[in-house]
Amino acid sequence: MSTPTEIPTARIATIPRAKRSIADLLTTLDRLAQTSPSLIAKPGGTFEINGQIYELPRYIFLGANNGDEPIRIGLFAAIHGDEPEGTFALVQLLGLLEQNPELAAGYCLFVYPICNPSGFEDNTRHSRRGRDLNREFWNNSKEPEIQLLQREIYHHAFHGMVSLHSDDTADGVYGFVSGATLTQHLLKPALDAADLILPRSRHDIIDGFAAQHGIIREGYQGVLSAPPGVRPLPFEIILETPQAAPRYQQERALVAALQTILVEYQKLMAYAPNL
Ligand SMILES: [Zn+2]
Repeated sequence: MSTPTEIPTARIATIPRAKRSIADLLTTLDRLAQTSPSLIAKPGGTFEINGQIYELPRYIFLGANNGDEPIRIGLFAAIHGDEPEGTFALVQLLGLLEQNPELAAGYCLFVYPICNPSGFEDNTRHSRRGRDLNREFWNNSKEPEIQLLQREIYHHAFHGMVSLHSDDTADGVYGFVSGATLTQHLLKPALDAADLILPRSRHDIIDGFAAQHGIIREGYQGVLSAPPGVRPLPFEIILETPQAAPRYQQERALVAALQTILVEYQKLMAYAPNL
């Protein structure tokens, strides 16, 4: 017989989880895409998890042509399903670009607001198949989300990639740099811009890695990244916001950082096209 303080396991299993609706979130973007001259809604493929069919949401924002081949940037959020702040930030960013398309002049942005749809619905870090998808890249993963995302990353050969996360242990904004050597020259001004909204993390060690002024130059194996050995190397940035901060501040900090990256990359390209 169980003591009164014990909760029967059957009851634990039936406690409902916070569920989130992908459709609700994407309605704003889908409506925008219907009338926008710049934004296209085009899912990046479908897959099945435990008998349920999912799409990989994908939006393409084509900025005004400035005569050159558009710069292809991949923006990714919610590879961890319990970090929706990045998703909301990308919705905000696309709304902002729709109002101010000159901010994206010269760019073609490939936006993946929900990289882990089942985890996003369930509000879990892992996918419903129990995988941390951000440890599975370029390692013969059988996970369908990984196969779709790898196909996108390989096919579009991005000039730059930015992944958005929120960290429930962080007390400030920070980021990881990898890929092209110029990446640090993009993250620094991006963190400066975010700083005006949410202060950056000042710790020497963040998430177990050495950090300087909120910038980390190492990282985990298997994170969402460019294919190994690809040349030229794209710039690769992971932005992390402190998840305990108010959501609107995290969104605004991420949007400010992303806008800055777009501006600064154009400047760097004009200065040193072969960097
Ligand atoms: Zn994360």
